[in-house]
Amino acid sequence: MSSNAPFSSQGFPLVYQTHELAQVVQGNAVEDEIFISTRKVNKYFGAKHVLKDIDFEVRKQEVVALIGPSGSGKSTLIRCLNGLEKHSSGEILIHGQRLDPQMTVNELIPIRRELGMVFQGFNLFPHMTVLQNIIEAPLLVRKMPREQAVVMAEALLAKVGLAEKRDVYPNSLSGGQKQRVAIARALAMQPRALLFDEPTSSLDPELVGEVLKVMRDLAYEGCTMVVVTHEMQFARDVSDRVVFLADGVIVEQGEPEQVFRHPQQERTRLFLERVLATSL
Ligand code: ADP
Ligand code: MG
Repeated sequence: MSSNAPFSSQGFPLVYQTHELAQVVQGNAVEDEIFISTRKVNKYFGAKHVLKDIDFEVRKQEVVALIGPSGSGKSTLIRCLNGLEKHSSGEILIHGQRLDPQMTVNELIPIRRELGMVFQGFNLFPHMTVLQNIIEAPLLVRKMPREQAVVMAEALLAKVGLAEKRDVYPNSLSGGQKQRVAIARALAMQPRALLFDEPTSSLDPELVGEVLKVMRDLAYEGCTMVVVTHEMQFARDVSDRVVFLADGVIVEQGEPEQVFRHPQQERTRLFLERVLATSL
């Protein structure tokens, strides 16, 4: 499958600005270029060894689903990728830039610009309207002119299906709407990749679909994504690769059909059996 999504010089798909185009682009083509790579990354919290020799790669336009039991280190891994957690040893490269655990917040800025982050808990600013939430960082961090930021924010809101919520405060939104605003806010910084940490886990079941739909659209447009998720159907249908983490170790990874149909490791099989049984 090939992507027709035109990318701007910042790697920001121009199709984010239109609704119609999103529907004609059918699937993404994973490129050879490696966007994120880790080599032998270890992370300790005190004496607790949470990530063990993690070799992890994400290619441009690839969608990677990171799955595994609670406590296996999924959040820690993606938090290490943008320096929210400092890895204890090993190497992390983001778009060729080395992420050193000694870096100051200022030194981390260029790396964090590459990556948008969407959390389970939305983290919207409650005292700001939806529009203000989205334009805040582009104005302050990217020094984008206000009119341009507003035009972009409106386009992103239309994209996530929330144009009419522009001027309301987050507390009037459902969880699914809040998460869609959080996705628009992450996109407003024009990242080259998005990291999602269980974006639908705190939502009522009937609201999960609207968030997954937005994520599916992004995937089909060629957005590079790492998604920590328990939504196995999403992992199976949308991701290019599934990575199974348990006890801080990458136990198995591969194409979704391979991992779901023919898991190579007993551990993977037991995990899938359990989650698939409870999600039916
Ligand atoms: P997951 O996201 O897969 O559920 P986490 O990455 O959140 O797993 O956690 C991995 C392990 O690290 C767990 O045992 C957790 O208790 C521990 N852990 C996570 N964050 C911290 C922290 N800030 N301090 C101490 N231990 C932590
Ligand atoms: Mg987690």
